[in-house]
Amino acid sequence: MHFPSSINSKLPNTSTTIFTVMSALAREHNAINLSQGFPDYNPHPLVIEELTKAAKGNSNQYALMAGFMPLREQIAEKISLLYSAEVNPETEITVTAGGTQAIFTAILSVIREDDEVILFAPAYDSYAPAVELAGGKAIFYDREAPDYKIDWQHVKRLVNQRTRMIVINTPHNPTGTVMNAFDMQQLEKLTKDRDIVIVSDEVYEHIVYDGVQHQSILRYPKLAERAFVVFSFGKTYHCTGWKVGYCIAPQNLMSEFRKVHQFNVFSVNSVAQVAFAEVLKRKDLYEELNTFYQKKRDFFRSAIQSSRFKLLKCEGTYFQLAAYSRISEERDIEFVKRLTRDFKVAAIPISVFYRHQVDSSIIRFCFAKEEETLKRAAEMLVKI
Ligand code: GLN
Repeated sequence: MHFPSSINSKLPNTSTTIFTVMSALAREHNAINLSQGFPDYNPHPLVIEELTKAAKGNSNQYALMAGFMPLREQIAEKISLLYSAEVNPETEITVTAGGTQAIFTAILSVIREDDEVILFAPAYDSYAPAVELAGGKAIFYDREAPDYKIDWQHVKRLVNQRTRMIVINTPHNPTGTVMNAFDMQQLEKLTKDRDIVIVSDEVYEHIVYDGVQHQSILRYPKLAERAFVVFSFGKTYHCTGWKVGYCIAPQNLMSEFRKVHQFNVFSVNSVAQVAFAEVLKRKDLYEELNTFYQKKRDFFRSAIQSSRFKLLKCEGTYFQLAAYSRISEERDIEFVKRLTRDFKVAAIPISVFYRHQVDSSIIRFCFAKEEETLKRAAEMLVKI
């Protein structure tokens, strides 16, 4: 089939996402897949049990457009408990088909032709295409290794009359950094008295290490009143394939969000929603996640300690960055391909998350894996 030449691509610079590319390469070479972020273990038995129960019950038809009400009520309770924010389940919460859809819908519902959206690179690869499909312009602030600090004075210089949105992500994929209270105060200052909407991608909210507290936008009322906040059940309950998440926003923003949501997704998988409404009652399942992943992080780091990789700090998420400049001068895209082919471990190159060509020599490993998997991967990585 030929693409009619009268139709130009709306995303001429976008190719297949790196996650799909690397997972396919891992399969092709029978490599341990530490690239795309997903666990190699199952959800807690309770999660499966609730899903089975829901499927056998009377929950197999369309859920409400905004989400199963008992689930939204549980979400509101959780938000109040964790972030001391009161959200109205009727008007301020929408269940989505995962975090990426929530982000896409939030961007589409606000951004118009020529609006500018500030993104922080390395930026998750769905952000810029979503902005561009909406007719907006992605403006990048580049964060630099090894600490990826944000200089807010510098960010301020990117703000002008056309700035309509800022997208933040904490805990941050791929860098593993987390924003602190100072960052939030700076963001508050920056957006004060300006018509700027925030999208806050917080899908790794429960994966923060060393006793540090996750700084949700929802803890900051002045930011929350202008924000879409995005969460994921997949990351929290080890079921990324179920594709269920949710978005929280004040009523005026949420009603615009739902106008888009209803004609794109309409409503989200009903049985999963019924199951999560029960699962959310078990606070221990998310409260223990920090400890669960900190153990994996520490295991993986110490297993590759003796390798020639240099490990960057990992404050949150289930991703570990590693610099390989002591091993090779190859570009990161070439390096991860060779790593997959010759050493049977797949990883994600970091340069793809920047708009401009960067010389990063840094790759990302996902450690949401059984210790056995991490051990096997480490055995290969120390040989390089
Ligand atoms: N969020 C996952 C990651 O960063 C990938 C999700 C996807 O493949 N769309 O690895």
